[in-house]
Amino acid sequence: MKFKFEKIINGKNKKRGGKKKQPSFMMQLATSVIIFMVIGAVLDAAFGDKTDNKITLSELTTLVSENKVEQILVKGELLDITLLSVDGAESVKKESKKEVGTALSQTLVNYGVTPEALSLLDIEINEPSGLGYWLGIILPFLLPLLMLLFIIWFFMKQMKGGNKQAMSFGNSKARLINPKDKKKRVTFKNVAGNANAKQELGEMVEFLKNPKKFIDMGAKIPKGVLMTGLPGTGKTLMARAVAGEAKVPFFYLSGSDFVEMFVGVGASRVRDLFKMAKKMSPSIIFIDEIDAVGRSRGVGIGGGNDEREQTLNQILVEMDGFEESEKVIVMAATNRDDVLDSALLRPGRFDRQVRIELPDRKDRRAILDIYAQKKPLAKNTDLQVIAERTAGFSGADLESIMNEATIIATMAGKKKISQDHLINAFEKVLMGPKNKSHLAGEHEKRVTAYHEAGHAIVASVLPDADPVHKVTIIPRGRAGGFTMKLPLDERRLPTRAVYYDDIAMGLGGYAAEMKIFNDITTGPSNDLKVATATARDMVTKFGMSDSIGPIVVTGEAAKTLFGGQVSSSQRSDKLLEEIDAEIKSIVENGLKRAEIVIDDHYDAFVDIAETLLKAETLEQAEYNEILKKHGIPLKELKKVI
Ligand code: ADP
Ligand code: MG
Ligand code: ZN
Repeated sequence: MKFKFEKIINGKNKKRGGKKKQPSFMMQLATSVIIFMVIGAVLDAAFGDKTDNKITLSELTTLVSENKVEQILVKGELLDITLLSVDGAESVKKESKKEVGTALSQTLVNYGVTPEALSLLDIEINEPSGLGYWLGIILPFLLPLLMLLFIIWFFMKQMKGGNKQAMSFGNSKARLINPKDKKKRVTFKNVAGNANAKQELGEMVEFLKNPKKFIDMGAKIPKGVLMTGLPGTGKTLMARAVAGEAKVPFFYLSGSDFVEMFVGVGASRVRDLFKMAKKMSPSIIFIDEIDAVGRSRGVGIGGGNDEREQTLNQILVEMDGFEESEKVIVMAATNRDDVLDSALLRPGRFDRQVRIELPDRKDRRAILDIYAQKKPLAKNTDLQVIAERTAGFSGADLESIMNEATIIATMAGKKKISQDHLINAFEKVLMGPKNKSHLAGEHEKRVTAYHEAGHAIVASVLPDADPVHKVTIIPRGRAGGFTMKLPLDERRLPTRAVYYDDIAMGLGGYAAEMKIFNDITTGPSNDLKVATATARDMVTKFGMSDSIGPIVVTGEAAKTLFGGQVSSSQRSDKLLEEIDAEIKSIVENGLKRAEIVIDDHYDAFVDIAETLLKAETLEQAEYNEILKKHGIPLKELKKVI
């Protein structure tokens, strides 16, 4: 038996994590004692002396001498005595014991029974041979012994159980997916869409496949990659695909696996995990749902927090502690990157972030195709229709549609899945337990498309705005869609013109909604907030307003030459009013400029919006095509050296 007693005795293990309530030591002891007593009583009843029909040898002698005994059955040392029945009454039985090692007749003679009396006696010797007899003799000794052994074993098991939770890290908690396990191997082929993420992660694959090449070149490979994205977008799947592509061992562990443990064990698990991964390098450690341990430290109350912090610290220490040459890449996934501790995101840790987006129409089709592959689809099915209707669905949702459709078809006793089954499944998943509030209806989609087109066209036309990198109407977080700008160069010191154009572009969505629908949704509320904040900074921080001039009016107190402090509360009300008016005028001016751009390039604007409605996402190249079609010059990337 391989028990680690030092671990059991070690105080840590007595303090079990609150999850599984274990009976206390005293309770266990009491239970054992009670079991013991019950068994004892039972044994006593079975094998104990039955005093009422017991007689002594001398009494037996007397009975024999008086010729009252009919038969004596000798079973080893036990004597079963049958007395002569009187007047046909039932014969009485007695029991006795003879002397050890002496024949019964001899004993009786010794006790003074006459040979005559003896000759009348029927003595039957039934030498014990049966199993029962031996059991009868052994069991009374054996049973308590067995009980004792059982109790010892029971305790050992209890302790070992507790021990196992703490100790057997490598065996059970972190699941190791071996690259040689062909059945479980997942590659990029199994992940539909996500071209950008695949490309970024492809670098990791290259490194893991051929670390020497990179190390020889002196390249620094990121130690950590953090994948973020909504639930069900395939983060876990993607991580496994990276391991599958690189054909390296993949240690899978969920953040919550750390949390359920005793204090201090989370940290030691992390240590073990990294040790093991290094031993098998090149390898990947994947910590799924890292927000369970990686939440900002120092917030939140209650127990477990300590444990979480220790675990998190240990992860950080391990990540700092290994060199690139150790060829271990730590991947992590979360759908709550907003709550992550900033220490995790520092360079040398999870410095690379890969965003996994909700699939667009094309990718949704691809995902449906993947899961339709092994399913018997009827000829009338059109997955494209399903792909079109499922804006906002995650990969997991789509997988679940295919699965539900199969179930519905099977329940209906059909051999093939028809379009109706697919539509029913789609509705089922749509209504499903998950709140699909972000799933846009047709009108919402139109509003979003025109809103984003407004941002995009303003950005593309105004000279100092950053060019458009990507436009999408696929919901992301709370936003209905988004327009991604990419700075032309790294302007460390943006000019006033850049800020003006930025504000105009920010109001492009608002202007577009007004133009097309003559109404405003809550969609642009964040845009307005950002635009207003930018305008305020221009006026109160950067001295970019002509009427206010080069003064700073921020909330923060500033040190004067003489050590005094100036704060905004010392500003006159009149100045504050002027500031507000100036901010308002900047924002309104931005809106006016956005409106002019939309009017001037109305065709291009509508084209962008309508294309967006169809394709949902426009990458830079596709977007630029539209601009070219309408004669809007592309902004050239200024080379920064
Ligand atoms: P996450 O970790 O992001 O919450 P998972 O990786 O667990 O999501 O994916 C949930 C399910 O959805 C998995 O069964 C996966 O097969 C499927 N899935 C999600 N996205 C895709 C995709 N792009 N291609 C193929 N399957 C996907
Ligand atoms: Mg996951
Ligand atoms: Zn917007």
